[in-house]
Amino acid sequence: MPLNRKRAIIVGDGAAGTILANKLRFHSDPSEIEIVVFGKSENHYFKPDGVQIPFGFKDYRNSVKPTQSLFNYGIQFIKSGIKEFDLDNSTVKCEKDNTFRYDYLIIATGDRFSTEDLPGYEKAASHFYSLEASLDLKRKLSAFRGGKIVIGQASIPIQCPPAPYEFTFQLIQYLKLRGIRDKTEIHYVYPLNRVFTIPNVSDFVEKLMEEQGVIIHKMFNVDSLDPAGKKVNSLEGETLDYDLLILVPPHSGQKVITESGLADQSGYISVDRHHLNYKDYDNVFAIGDATDLPISKAGATAHFQSEYLANRIANEVNGNAFFDSYNGEVACTTITSGTQAITLFFSYDKPPRANFQSKSDYFLKWTSSDTYFSAMLRGIM
Ligand SMILES: Cc1cc2nc3c(=O)[nH]c(=O)nc-3n(C[C@H](O)[C@H](O)[C@H](O)COP(=O)(O)OP(=O)(O)OC[C@H]3O[C@@H](n4cnc5c(N)ncnc54)[C@H](O)[C@@H]3O)c2cc1C
Repeated sequence: MPLNRKRAIIVGDGAAGTILANKLRFHSDPSEIEIVVFGKSENHYFKPDGVQIPFGFKDYRNSVKPTQSLFNYGIQFIKSGIKEFDLDNSTVKCEKDNTFRYDYLIIATGDRFSTEDLPGYEKAASHFYSLEASLDLKRKLSAFRGGKIVIGQASIPIQCPPAPYEFTFQLIQYLKLRGIRDKTEIHYVYPLNRVFTIPNVSDFVEKLMEEQGVIIHKMFNVDSLDPAGKKVNSLEGETLDYDLLILVPPHSGQKVITESGLADQSGYISVDRHHLNYKDYDNVFAIGDATDLPISKAGATAHFQSEYLANRIANEVNGNAFFDSYNGEVACTTITSGTQAITLFFSYDKPPRANFQSKSDYFLKWTSSDTYFSAMLRGIM
């Protein structure tokens, strides 16, 4: 091995960390750069299937693969969390107290559910943002015979902002198939003065919801929960009772990020929006849900960011000039009915347009776990 062989340490074994590791391995020679990934998960779950699994529309076993198996040849995966970042000495410390030096550090630790911010959440609410929660919700939905369902999100930001409306359209399909749609009221609550963050997409989705008889409550910022009385209260003073509350939990960045001084209490890392580097460190980056960038927290975002960053690091290591930048590109297919979906393309400069929905987009979404595991995660596309 050459004496000046570099080492890239990637912290996080989710969508962003895995795509970046595999893409960087494709673009670079192992004799020039070693790639080490630290992560805590035994299995890698394809989270977008959370809008299908609670209804039995997909079998969860196709949505999970062993994490270790997803790294291409030439990548070292160490199954351990990182508990300390020391940027001044270019080192990280893992849970077993070993210290590792890096030439490049990429933080891809995603976010976490900060349910401690909403007392009573665990007792009051169900959700579909993890595999366990989706399976639990599946049991609750099977036992549901009609009544009042309240759907929403506890706060902003969350992963995949369209997921709550996607879930709602799938729920309508599910209730129709079970013959209990007419026995069920669906109330959709949203913290802003619309039903989605981006205005023109929001108008499109709101119209579809109204056509399907969904009762919309805008400016509903969840303030407190009453699990015993089955009530949810908003900061704005509105109270809704429910038979089933499906509420995306509050999110925040990882505690270790705040504890290491890399972010404020929110836990989200500020990076340069075009180059993804942290402060004035040219060799420290954050990607995926771990950042505080204004674009969607989505696997699709992580995918485009990884393409940029893998190319940049590989070119630097090879001594080539590299002038490209990341412009906030995202492409995201979202469900808009029981059988249709729309694909949204956007970047920092171009907001998405909700043009038309189609069955082929729905099919694209339905098969996306296969594309994800075989091509996207692998760094091929
Ligand atoms: C219901 C749902 C639907 C979605 N639908 C879509 C969709 O249709 N399209 C789309 O593009 N996106 C979608 N997403 C969002 C997408 O899944 C996430 O944005 C994506 O997983 C983010 O990738 P990430 O690597 O940043 O974070 P994650 O995938 O969460 O990975 C972070 C990893 O870091 C690890 N980690 C944390 N702390 C440490 C530490 N200290 N040391 C080492 N490892 C650590 C964690 O264990 C985890 O494995 C959806 C999400 C949900 C929940």
